[in-house]
Amino acid sequence: MQPYPARAVIDLDAIAANVATLDAGTSAEVMAVVKADAYGHGLVPAARAARRGGASWLGTAQVTEALALRAAGDTGRVLTWLYAPGAPLREAVEADVDVAVAAPWNVAALVEAARAAGRTARVHLKVDTGLGRNGVTPAQLPEVLDAAMRARAEGALDVVGVFSHFAFADAPQHPTVLAQAEEFARAVEAVERAGARLEVRHLANSAATVTNPSVHYDLVRPGIAVYGLSPVPDLSTSAELGLVPAMTFEAELASVKPLPAGHGVSYAHQYVTPTETLTGLVPVGYADGVPRHCSGTDGRPGAPVRIGARDLAIAGRVCMDQFVIDLGPGAREVAGDRVELFGNGADGGPTAQDWADAAGTISYEIVTRLGARIPRVYVGEGSRS
Ligand SMILES: *Cc1c(COP(=O)(O)O)cnc(C)c1O
Repeated sequence: MQPYPARAVIDLDAIAANVATLDAGTSAEVMAVVKADAYGHGLVPAARAARRGGASWLGTAQVTEALALRAAGDTGRVLTWLYAPGAPLREAVEADVDVAVAAPWNVAALVEAARAAGRTARVHLKVDTGLGRNGVTPAQLPEVLDAAMRARAEGALDVVGVFSHFAFADAPQHPTVLAQAEEFARAVEAVERAGARLEVRHLANSAATVTNPSVHYDLVRPGIAVYGLSPVPDLSTSAELGLVPAMTFEAELASVKPLPAGHGVSYAHQYVTPTETLTGLVPVGYADGVPRHCSGTDGRPGAPVRIGARDLAIAGRVCMDQFVIDLGPGAREVAGDRVELFGNGADGGPTAQDWADAAGTISYEIVTRLGARIPRVYVGEGSRS
């Protein structure tokens, strides 16, 4: 029985192997980034697979994501870096989660959390070296550092890390990469000069992990590469990087039916059958994370799909719950046949990167926006625990 006509099959061995590959390519430790439900792959199973592959750290954006790892029994090092006033910081400190200081107000909030928890908070200073997003600017750093070191003297905080994030890591030659690396080196020096005994300095996301060993420092923070997708698709495929995409999105055909030539297909008839043909109905749509931008409209085929060994494409508009493919005259497919929307690409089948290209976006958005309605099914070691 298939209780649901679509699923994301997550290969936990691929996640473990990808982490091992990244680990083998650096002398730094690896923090597997598991924010956003592990980029749509499922937080806890993906985190366990990443640990198995050698991740000595896990990274999350939101504090609740870090707490969910602890609730699931993860006892390793975990860093969380993005929160707003009211976040459960006391719980994070109690749970032995490392927390970023990414804005001046964070210091006092963490001191209060540490006092309430009755223990020292381990913090990593997040410096905005040029991204212009989260983190304290070089101009704010002296004041934040001063406050953090005063809290350290009182035993409330321990400054164990300094980190930053690139704006153009996927374009390794971009001049901002070197400028940010230099700014980072200055920040590290300032923090060490203030007396912090740093355990980890970290700057590299996936793209910098695979392109720029000079910025690996003590710890690299890959996210997308952990899930087997290329962080630099214009430079290297995942296969070229030795990575295996971990997610396969598949569905069963709900129906197959004949349509005459010249018949409009799906909303606004953006596709018109060129001949008498058979169409197949795939029961997933934009509510499930199939981007509407993957529609086949204006004479262009939509995102690729595969049935058996046949490469086909979305015909017409993607709807909320469904889309159509033109199977062609004489097609042998029947209702219930498996359609692969994207997978590991091993046999030349479509990948999340192909879907990103079709939608004009990045693979990150394809996998992370897979709908909550789609069941995740796990294969590989640990899939039964
Ligand atoms: C998301 C994130 C990462 C991982 O980025 P990838 O491009 O997926 O490797 C690393 N560090 C920070 C601060 C992030 O927010």
